[in-house]
Amino acid sequence: LVILSFVSSIHASVIASSALSSNGFNEEDLVSISQKYPELNSLTFASVKINLANNKSDSSQIELKLYSEKNNDVYVVTKSGKNIEVEKIELKYDVIVKSVEGVIRHTLYESVIRELNFPDIAEKLSESFQDEFTSTKGLKKAAQFQFDIEQYFDHGTFIKNGQILNASLFVRKAISKKTYQFSADKMVWELLPDNATLVEKPFYLPVNSSSISSLFQLNRRHPVTKKHQPHNGIDFRARTGSPVFPALDGEVTTIARSRSKGKYITILHENGYKTTYMHLKKIEKNIKVGKMVELSDQIGEVGRTGFATGTHLHFGIIKDGFFVNPIFLLKRYSFAQKDQNIEIESENIEKNLMNMEISDEDIEEDK
Ligand SMILES: [Zn+2]
Repeated sequence: LVILSFVSSIHASVIASSALSSNGFNEEDLVSISQKYPELNSLTFASVKINLANNKSDSSQIELKLYSEKNNDVYVVTKSGKNIEVEKIELKYDVIVKSVEGVIRHTLYESVIRELNFPDIAEKLSESFQDEFTSTKGLKKAAQFQFDIEQYFDHGTFIKNGQILNASLFVRKAISKKTYQFSADKMVWELLPDNATLVEKPFYLPVNSSSISSLFQLNRRHPVTKKHQPHNGIDFRARTGSPVFPALDGEVTTIARSRSKGKYITILHENGYKTTYMHLKKIEKNIKVGKMVELSDQIGEVGRTGFATGTHLHFGIIKDGFFVNPIFLLKRYSFAQKDQNIEIESENIEKNLMNMEISDEDIEEDK
């Protein structure tokens, strides 16, 4: 008795009829199978595993395992002589979590494919980052991706990929991380930005304005330096001299001036995040490194010091040394406006984003 076992196709989204006909089942067999199991015709399969048993005295036997793409169902089709049986079983897969990482070159899609050759996975990742990572133009070596994905095995044989549990892109000191979460708006599980489903956003707007001229981006052409680099925060449009407030109580850790950031302040908060405020016209005299500041304390005034083409506040949030997207951590009103906007707070993030005035014209820049 000779038994041959192999996986004839992997993750090809095959339909039953083509899997069967390319693995020793003839026209007549197909008709009899679809009579017994009509549902087979409407399903797609991630993998097909074939076992061939060659019995010297009698005819050969073919056993085909069809692994459903959508769930844990496996259809076992056996042909012994003229006799055909179909059995549906629910398989207990061995699931491992595979961590995949690589550098980003050319497109994100191609960079993922280079490390894990599944087009559907690369496509899903590209789609989920398209808001914050629109271009790979001008990227040098400092861009990387990392993700964790479930993989399903049947007795040591890879059958199919499962969920992408989390995924991160890093460009210099900026990070965009997504995790597999339940979206209450859409009522589905999907890859969403970290903090996107936070009900209670920890930070208040640092200015009494919700007009945004530029959002967080992992790679953007800087209009002053013309170089491609992350836009590490959000730009708020406000008049010169408008008061700037801490986004939350905290301790001032940096007061400095740099060629690109202009006059800026960084504050460390109890929740572990740091916030930073750039291009300030002036910093209040009583604000010193080590001083504890509260939400109602004015720390400076909006200006255009540093690399800025216009007056605005660049506001950044830092977690574990990386700039993260502030939009998912910010309330939609400042501390002073907190009693006026209660109904806005309960709305979902997309609606909140629409309530904020975002325009691409007259983009005001910084580093
Ligand atoms: Zn900015």
